[in-house]
Amino acid sequence: MDKLPLFERYPGLRERIPYVPIATLPTPVRPLEALGESLGAELWLKDDGPSGVSYGGNKVRKLGFLLASAKQDGAETVLTFGAAGSNHALATAIYAKALGLRSISMLVPQPPAHSVRRNLLRQLAAGAEVHYRNGLGPVAVATCWQFAVHSVRSGKFPRVIATGGSSPLGIVGFVNAVFELKQQIERGELPEPEVIYVAAGSMGTAVGLALGTQLAGMKTRIQAVRVTGERFTNLERGRKLYQSTNELLHYNDPGVPLVPFPESTFEVRHDFYGDNYALYTPAGMEAVKLTHELEGLRLEGTYSGKAMACLISDARAGRITGRALFWNTYNSVDFHPDIAGADYHDLPQALHRYFEEAVQPLDEKPIS
Ligand SMILES: *Cc1c(COP(=O)(O)O)cnc(C)c1O
Repeated sequence: MDKLPLFERYPGLRERIPYVPIATLPTPVRPLEALGESLGAELWLKDDGPSGVSYGGNKVRKLGFLLASAKQDGAETVLTFGAAGSNHALATAIYAKALGLRSISMLVPQPPAHSVRRNLLRQLAAGAEVHYRNGLGPVAVATCWQFAVHSVRSGKFPRVIATGGSSPLGIVGFVNAVFELKQQIERGELPEPEVIYVAAGSMGTAVGLALGTQLAGMKTRIQAVRVTGERFTNLERGRKLYQSTNELLHYNDPGVPLVPFPESTFEVRHDFYGDNYALYTPAGMEAVKLTHELEGLRLEGTYSGKAMACLISDARAGRITGRALFWNTYNSVDFHPDIAGADYHDLPQALHRYFEEAVQPLDEKPIS
C-alpha cells in the first residue's frame, strides 16, 4: 500500500510518518518535444496534473501526509487557508471528505477568474464549510471564532493545515516526489535533468524538491518561480522550511542525513510575478497558450503559466544549456461533472461577486 520510494530508501520512516495513499503515483513523465524544438532546448515534463483520481495537482502529495496525521490524531475536522480560488483549500476539502473528515476553508480575496468560480463550486459540492473575509487580519479573528464554535460543538479543536500544505510534514510529499523521479530516471524513462522549473507560492513544492535532490545525490538545480508576494515567497523562508523538513525526517529516521541548503543551486525567480497574486501577466498567458498549442498541456495564469513563462524566457535568452524539466503543479482532472448541481447562491454572500462581476481582462478567453 505505501510503496513510497522515500520509505523504500529510508525504511525507518515507514513506521513513524503517517501516510494515506490518496495520490495516484508515480505521476507521468514525457519529453516536451514540440515546445523544446520551438525554443531550441531539451525539455521534459513531470506531470502532477493527474496526481489524484478526483482532483490532481501538487497539493495531493502533501495531503497524503497531512490528512493521515489528522486521522491518526483523532481529528474530526480540518481547517485551512487560501485565496477565494485556492487549489489547496479545494484539494483539502475533497480529500478530507474522502477520508471522513469535515473541512473548513478560510478564504481571502483575489482577482476574479473563471477558475475561482469552478473551485468555489467544487468546494460546495465537497461539503466544505466556507468562510470569506476581507484580509488576513479578519481571517485570523474569524479563525479564532471557528475554534471556539467547534470546540463547544464537538469538544475538539479543528486540525489546522498550513497555507498551501507547506508545513514540514506536507513538504515530505515533495521529498518523496524526487525519489519517485529518480526511480523513473533509473528505469530509463527520462534522463537526469540539469534544472527543474517550478512555481513557488508557499514554497513547499520547491523546497521539497531541493531537499529531495540533495538527499538523492542529484545535482539538479531548482528554479523556484515566485507567484505570490515576496513576503511569502523568499529565500529565507525557503531555507527555514528546508531545515525543519530535514530535521523532521532525520528525527524520525537517523539514517536520513542532515544536508545543507543548496545555496548555489536553488534560486527564487522574481521577474515573472507581475503586479499581484493571481493577476495574470501577458508573458504568463502567452506561455499558457503556447504550451497548450504545442503540447496539449493545460496550464493556468496564477501559478504554472508564470513558471512556464520563466522557462520560456530563459530558453529564448540562451540560458538553458542542459536538459530542463518543467514540473507541472496544476490539476488536470476535469471536475465539471461534479459541479453540475452546485449553485453559487449557497456560498456566503460576500463570495457572490466572483460570479456576478466580470473576470480579469486576461482571463476573458480561457482555453478550458
Ligand atoms: C499551490 C500551487 C502552487 C504553489 O505550490 P507551493 O508549494 O505553495 O509553492 C503551484 N501551482 C499550483 C497550480 C498550485 O495550486
